[in-house]
Amino acid sequence: MIVLVINSGSSSLKYQVRDGGNVLAEGLIERIGEAGVPDHTAALDLVDQQVNDALDGRTIDAVGHRVVHGGERFSEPVLIDNEITRAIERLNPLAPLHNPAAVQGIRAITGKWPDMSQVAVFDTAFHRTLPERAWRYAVPDELYRRHGIRRYGFHGTSHEYVSRGAAALLGVEPGDFHGVIAHLGNGASVTAVRNGKSIDTSMGFTPLEGLVMGTRSGDIDPSILLFLMREGYSAADLDTLLNRESGLRGLAGTNDMRSIDEAAGAGDQRAQLALDVAAYRLAKYIGAYHVAVGGAQALVFTAGIGENSPGFRAATVGHLGALKVMLDDGRNAPRSREPRVVSAATSAIPVLVVPTNEEAAIAEATVAVVAAG
Ligand code: ADP
Repeated sequence: MIVLVINSGSSSLKYQVRDGGNVLAEGLIERIGEAGVPDHTAALDLVDQQVNDALDGRTIDAVGHRVVHGGERFSEPVLIDNEITRAIERLNPLAPLHNPAAVQGIRAITGKWPDMSQVAVFDTAFHRTLPERAWRYAVPDELYRRHGIRRYGFHGTSHEYVSRGAAALLGVEPGDFHGVIAHLGNGASVTAVRNGKSIDTSMGFTPLEGLVMGTRSGDIDPSILLFLMREGYSAADLDTLLNRESGLRGLAGTNDMRSIDEAAGAGDQRAQLALDVAAYRLAKYIGAYHVAVGGAQALVFTAGIGENSPGFRAATVGHLGALKVMLDDGRNAPRSREPRVVSAATSAIPVLVVPTNEEAAIAEATVAVVAAG
């Protein structure tokens, strides 16, 4: 089955055409909303042109959409119809930068190919198994009932894919796997997985909570916002401050882990501090989630930084001495695209690197939903 995987942003559209494990075409349409590409329909026309050669006369059988927010309703991928599209649209206030773009992407496909099977795959869905003690914030109940203020969690497609990969590497059934998964890309989150299910995760009501990220602060004392508001910062200022100017960028001046690794290696103090703050925060979450899952069978690193920065893995695991978790330098250093063990033989639990692949996961989910459909 040939699947077009679409990740619609407000001004961009990332796509991949897959046939099982094969990537037939991929690309990125940018500056949607400007003169050349006025809307998502125009972007889709460009995708259509770009993939035509690669398809060589074959046609797309189904489209899988990455949808950031599935709210409380969606706990798994679903076949899209008008009612589902409207349900996703009703979640726009919870993900104002992301869900409206997904809805535009879905409607553009419906307009262009009315009979196309479309599947929505939600970033939040894997975390629908969180127990209430993990998803509740200790604020008046009214905030949850009236505004849906609770932990939703994100990166679920990746956490689920990687926890299945980790289980396979360990030789256990996915449903028997307990682990801590650290997805460290530009956005970063860590998830506690028990019996193959997410039972806690560091991102919350929005993808801002938790770890130190490329440009996001992660956890801070909420009173800092109140203090800054009294100092004259607007809601928009705070949004920009915490989502775009904080995290590694706020501490080191750049959000690119490669540059930070190099600068720290060359003795740059700010870069070293950024690494220290981020690694220490992650290590604390790992300790907490090791407890949450009742003893992890493995600690798993994934995504751009998790897969490619031996230095960041070493800095993090360096804090886990009390858990007797240790890396093996010879296994940790080399680069590879393969799932692998990077811990020492004497480590209390294995430390794994399992590359994520959200497009593959979305395509697989799309095929499964359409086949069941
Ligand atoms: P996104 O969340 O945008 O999908 P990625 O998973 O691609 O992000 O991760 C991006 C991060 O991975 C960046 O901080 C980048 O610097 C880091 N990264 C990529 N390659 C390397 C590398 N070889 N060494 C260190 N960091 C890397």
